[in-house]
Parts: sequence; C-alpha cells; structure tokens
Amino acid sequence: MNYIVLDLEWNQCPYGKEKENKNIPFEIIEIGAVKLNDRRECIDKFSKLIKPTVYKEIHYYTKNMLSITMKDLKNGVSFTKAMGEFLEWCGDDYIFCTWGASDLIELQRNMEYYGMSPLAEGPFKFYDVQKVYSMLFEEDKTVRRSLEYAVDRFDILKAAAFHRAKEDATYTARVMQYIRYDDMEHYYSIDTYHRPANKKKEVYALFDNHSKYISREFSSKEEAMADREVISTRCYVCGKNARKKIRWFTGNGKLYFCQAYCEHHGWLRGKIRMKKTDNGKFYVIKTLRLVSGEEALFVKEKQEEVRKKRREKRKS
Ligand SMILES: [Zn+2]
Repeated sequence: MNYIVLDLEWNQCPYGKEKENKNIPFEIIEIGAVKLNDRRECIDKFSKLIKPTVYKEIHYYTKNMLSITMKDLKNGVSFTKAMGEFLEWCGDDYIFCTWGASDLIELQRNMEYYGMSPLAEGPFKFYDVQKVYSMLFEEDKTVRRSLEYAVDRFDILKAAAFHRAKEDATYTARVMQYIRYDDMEHYYSIDTYHRPANKKKEVYALFDNHSKYISREFSSKEEAMADREVISTRCYVCGKNARKKIRWFTGNGKLYFCQAYCEHHGWLRGKIRMKKTDNGKFYVIKTLRLVSGEEALFVKEKQEEVRKKRREKRKS
C-alpha cells in the first residue's frame, strides 16, 4: 500500500464571507502530493494548478500567504481535470495522509460542487499527521502546530518556501519519517464528510483504549438521542451491555456524556459529539473509554456543573 501525502491551497471570496458561495467557501487552486511506498520512500510527486471559476480574484489573506498570482492560475486546468488526473495518479491501493483534517473536507466539498462522484461511499480511514504529531510530541494533546513548527522540531532542511501544495506535502512526508508505523496506526483518523448511508454501513472502530462509533444521519438531535444504538453503552472489550450509572446528558447540545459500569471491566466513560451536516441533518460520533474509578468522577463533576448552570439560568 502507498501513502498519498496530500496538500491543497485554496482561495476564498475576496469580498468577504457574506458574498461567498456557501456551497464552496474555499475554492481549491492547487493540488500537491507526494507518493510514498510502504517503506515510506518517495516514489513520485504530483502538482497541478487549477483555474478558478468561482472567485476570480485572490483574497488578500491568500495573497499574503501564497506565492501564486491570478495570472499563474489562468494557465491552470479545470478542477475536474486536475482531480481526475490526481485520482488516476493515486492508483488503487493507498491511504491519504494530510497535515490537519481540513484538506480532505474541502477536497470533497469541491468535488461535490463540480458534480463529481464521491471520493468514498462513506467514512474512510486516513492519517492526520498534525494530530499524530500532537499525540506523540505535545504535552497538551489538543494543541495543533503549524507544519513549519514540526519541521523545525526535527531540524528538517527548509529548502523550499512553505504554503505551496507540493512543497508542504513534501515537508509533511518528511515529518512522517520521524513517526513510527505503530504510532501512526495507533492514532489513525476517520473522515466523515460522507456519512454512513444506512444503519448497516455505520462505523465501529476499535482502538486499544477506546472504541468509536459513527452513526448514520438523523433529522434531529432528539431523533439521534432516541436511537438505541446511539445511546447504547456496550463494553468494547467483552461486548456485553454495561449498565448506565449516569444517563446521557448535555450542557450545550453538542457534547453529551454518560457513565456505565461493566461487571468484568469496570467504568466506561461515554462521549457523544453531535455533528451537524451541511444539509441540516445530524449524526453522532460516540467514543467509549474504559477509565479508572478516579477518572470516572469526571462525568459526575461534569453533570454537577451542568445542573448548577441550569439552576443559575432559572434564577436569573
Ligand atoms: Zn466488559
């Protein structure tokens, strides 16, 4: 299997957010990629400039960051042509690697805008190198560093300027060489631009210290939270239903927590991330994690916090 290390450059509406085309807030203007073999040696590179059709001027932010002019882009090819060639270049057996999760989202949004067939039928696995980097090298795992920051950390030679697609893909590939295979695999990501089409296609992924479930779409949050599978707390080690000690609750309607107890494996902490789609529907990403008795207090405290806020709200 090959690794396709992908990087995109995009432009946005030069006249501000209010005037943007909501179906394509970020128009891709460059695709760059590096192909690595299974030993992570570079075997090929891809680079294509794209002629814009939506935003015909470059946003000042993009202009400051990229060394690309509209004149360059006018010599580019159409997005569909570039993308077609890119997918053919990728081959059949590969996994995407990106710095951050947004490239794959914008890539698929652009594909949808131009009426191309979807990149995948549903969620798919990829490596978010930026996330893996944080998991391995940062104290605070939620922090996200720039690519240049990681390049500096490993003293990688800065032979080319940043913020051009092929160059950034090359730098990302270089950073990957400092990450062990096992670690990459340990922290793999799942792209959910296309949700599971139905109940049968829902995703169950097992990691060594937690499990992840990605639901199909629902028309409302309430409908999602009424679904048996969504709210279930099955222990991911033994597969038995763990009894809920604290039922699902939420403070903001985005994050839900619960706590359950498996007779064989102890405390399970549940977290649901309620996600809204572009078309106004909802789906959930649920993680269940075995935790120590002490860590289990977290949910209880969270619940107290939510209750307290409610009481204060009622009073005011
Ligand atoms: Zn169990």
